[in-house]
Amino acid sequence: MISVKIHWRALPFAAKAIARKLWAIITFGTLLVPKEERDNRLAICDKCEHKIGSESSTSQCGICLCFLSLKTRFKDEVCPLRPNPKW
Ligand code: SF4
Repeated sequence: MISVKIHWRALPFAAKAIARKLWAIITFGTLLVPKEERDNRLAICDKCEHKIGSESSTSQCGICLCFLSLKTRFKDEVCPLRPNPKW
């Protein structure tokens, strides 16, 4: 059985993400990136020192705590590292 913990620190990021999704629908007309772009993002995250977990379906970004399998799909999402995001 897969156990997923959602930390309270993730709530502000979740609220911002929902707002960005709504904005993306309005501005881009679509939410999702092409498969090649998603695969590229996942490959970068797989090598990142901030990645939490090894299961592809439940691994998270250690900075924003987003689930990478979802985060990498959306057009409006960005790597949260500043000043140099990895994607
Ligand atoms: S989103 Fe950025 S910081 Fe987070 S795991 Fe991926 S590459 Fe690392």
